[in-house]
Amino acid sequence: MQIIAQVKLLMTPEQTQALKQTLEMANAACNHISEQAWEARTFRRYDLHRLVYHEVRQAFPLSAQMVVRQIAKVADAYKADRETKRMFREQGSIAYDGRILSWRTQEEQTVSIWTTGGRLRIPFACGAEQLERLAQRCGQADLVYRDGSFYLHQVCEVEEAAQYEAQGWIGVDLGITQLATTSDGESFSGREVEEHRKWYAHRRGILQSVGTRSAKRRLRQMAGRLARFQRDVNHRISKRLVGTAKCTSRGIGLEDLTGIRERTRVSRGQRARHSNWAFYQLRSFVIYKARLLGVPVQLIDPAYTSQTCPLCGYCHRSNRRCRDWFACAVCGFAVPADHAAAMNIAARAAVNPPMVSTEMSKGVSANCDIARGQGQAPPLAAG
Ligand SMILES: [Zn+2]
Repeated sequence: MQIIAQVKLLMTPEQTQALKQTLEMANAACNHISEQAWEARTFRRYDLHRLVYHEVRQAFPLSAQMVVRQIAKVADAYKADRETKRMFREQGSIAYDGRILSWRTQEEQTVSIWTTGGRLRIPFACGAEQLERLAQRCGQADLVYRDGSFYLHQVCEVEEAAQYEAQGWIGVDLGITQLATTSDGESFSGREVEEHRKWYAHRRGILQSVGTRSAKRRLRQMAGRLARFQRDVNHRISKRLVGTAKCTSRGIGLEDLTGIRERTRVSRGQRARHSNWAFYQLRSFVIYKARLLGVPVQLIDPAYTSQTCPLCGYCHRSNRRCRDWFACAVCGFAVPADHAAAMNIAARAAVNPPMVSTEMSKGVSANCDIARGQGQAPPLAAG
């Protein structure tokens, strides 16, 4: 599986200046190339190369390989759509391949990187895990300038562990107030993220009314920071979930979301979740980290997981008299609602080896009052 390792470059002010100049020069070249491509209606990389290469080499102080990369960048940008002329941000990211960037990850952590002022050797900061990944790097890296610092995003090939056979399952309920709750009862609050988001929404209101160019730039920076904060939180949660599963030799049960948009019975809570990109991000992080560590993942039909009692199986809306708590009307079992949902997901994963979904939903509906559209006489639990 390919994943991206991100490292921060630790630079002197002079190095920063040189790299910034390089970035700006490369993007200026992209705009120039885009202009030519647009004029000549020539968009394929090979044709574009023939059209502009020599001229760009004359006009810009860029190395041969740098020019090749910028031509590729422009050609890529026109791949999706040839009807809009492409412009490139002054400090947008640019790609480096092995000819203009080399890594030292063993005795010292440095990169040697081509700039308009010659090659620079720059130390970088990264954790042990990232370093291990970098040993398996492949393909190119993107040079990204953000909030005054430079980063390299390097594509790495990571080997997936062989999947083990699950000795039990952890059900995971993903949400917004609680970002994740497990059937073990562990939960990860979304409060911190929510506070950041509120603060951002407030600032956005102010900055939008200002409307100047610098206000817009500030806005973009803030949005980026918010997204990165959320991403970081999602990384931590997913790492913890998958780690717990691995340590206890269990698999992970997650809601199956296929066809969720078409489903007629979608609660307001679900609708809020499904318009939230962070929810999908956390889910995808759990799935890919599980793949890396060989943790089995099972997708479970989520129908009625929030209304069914995980102890006695009684399923009715009245089990949810209040929004955040589950309290069984029959056996009295009470836990936070997300915890009950996660327990149901775990239970369904346990009785439901690999083949999922359709069979399951039939089974659930048959036991469920709501599915039959009436609400009397709950079946009593045995035992
Ligand atoms: Zn019950």
